[in-house]
Amino acid sequence: MFYFMSVVLAAMAPMLFSSVSSTVNNVEMEYAAEPTLSATESEHGVAEQDLDIDDLDLGVNEPMLSVNEIAELIKGKGRLITPGMNPSDYIATLREPWKEIAFSEDAEILSSVSFSFDKVFEYSQWESLLFDLAKHEDVRLYEIGETMQGRKIYSVEVGSAEKTVLLSAGVHAREIGGVYLLYQMLKEKVEEAEKDDAARQSLMDSVKFAAVVLANPDGYAYYAATGSPIKSNNQYGAGNGIDINRSFPVSYGGILLGVAKSGGDFPNGPAAANYSGPTLGCAKETQALMRFYSKYIAVENSAVAYIDIHQQGRVVYRSTRIDGVDDTGPNHQFGQRLVDYLGYRFAPYEAFNGGEGGTTARMVMDLSLGFKMGRFGVLGLPVEGEALPLALYKDMPNYLDYYPNNASIPSITLEITKTDYSKGPLRNVRDAKAEYSKYKYSGFLALAANEAAIMENHSGDAEAN
Ligand SMILES: [Zn+2]
Repeated sequence: MFYFMSVVLAAMAPMLFSSVSSTVNNVEMEYAAEPTLSATESEHGVAEQDLDIDDLDLGVNEPMLSVNEIAELIKGKGRLITPGMNPSDYIATLREPWKEIAFSEDAEILSSVSFSFDKVFEYSQWESLLFDLAKHEDVRLYEIGETMQGRKIYSVEVGSAEKTVLLSAGVHAREIGGVYLLYQMLKEKVEEAEKDDAARQSLMDSVKFAAVVLANPDGYAYYAATGSPIKSNNQYGAGNGIDINRSFPVSYGGILLGVAKSGGDFPNGPAAANYSGPTLGCAKETQALMRFYSKYIAVENSAVAYIDIHQQGRVVYRSTRIDGVDDTGPNHQFGQRLVDYLGYRFAPYEAFNGGEGGTTARMVMDLSLGFKMGRFGVLGLPVEGEALPLALYKDMPNYLDYYPNNASIPSITLEITKTDYSKGPLRNVRDAKAEYSKYKYSGFLALAANEAAIMENHSGDAEAN
């Protein structure tokens, strides 16, 4: 079904491209006034920072196995649908500078864009909104990468406590409700901290938030302008048409085991559902998120939880163990608390079904478990000196000995309400507005921070015992 739709949309895309404007066909949309970013550019500078990865043990230095060698190794277990990321490309990705956008102290960053759930913002207006957020005290804005089409990808940091709750939204282009919802949650946090000393103190002492509000700007821009509900980073061209949430070089990424859930064969090509790219980790959007995760998980070691916000119908997914056995670890506990608060459905644990790997949540979980880059071009647990991907050592006699029971950082995929995409992007945004009040999202970040802090304490207790 999704595959069929993608094919139809791909065929329609050239027509849609030619009619990109603020009044597209029947799509109901309303743009705010043009942003004034250019006027503010002289008031801030971009300071380059490098992630200090020299001390990290990123894995083996042996050359990656060839596609044929991998195919031979997984013969009878599955099929390689996307080759892994070369370890040297992985290291190069982490070495790309991390840029902090520094605002001069008295800079008056004026924006003509005011945030609301009643408009479909253009990408440049999101830039204004993020800059707007960053002019507040205790907020920092970073440029973590560029998209395939040259748009900037930002992360925003609210507070300066050591522990960090990581958040992202908009990984899937059409799921823009999550982008609005995340922005609103952060905005409320910032405004609350300005008014309330205790709230501010908590961001300084307890837990801060680091968020990529709009993880897929090209896909967002395409959907906002055309109303065509794509999931990928864009539909055409090298490195495009990729489902970012299947494109990470992590355990299971790019390896199809057994029969794909989506039925029959696995769609594999630009703009197909779940397309993970010509190689894992090749999309620039994927790489930007890898830098973001690595900063807080591998380099600073400050991350205590991760929530990636999607929009497919009020479900909480937690990363699953390789054997599909339910466990009571941090992923489960944290997910359960979110479910209790929101009243969403908790997705059942399921044995892994190939073709669903390479996700954001999986990347965070694997990084948090100390996975290393393997010769397969995916991350895997180090087994006797070599990083084997889980897809392979699942069949080893004592594989569970190598697999920790619990992820150390809860890594959650949160699906907010599902929208009727045929009614256009504005309807989508309004659905998110209703979700925000109905499901108490104004208290969500406080809950997430509290739970993450509690869980940290508990794991500390466990170690002490
Ligand atoms: Zn999604």
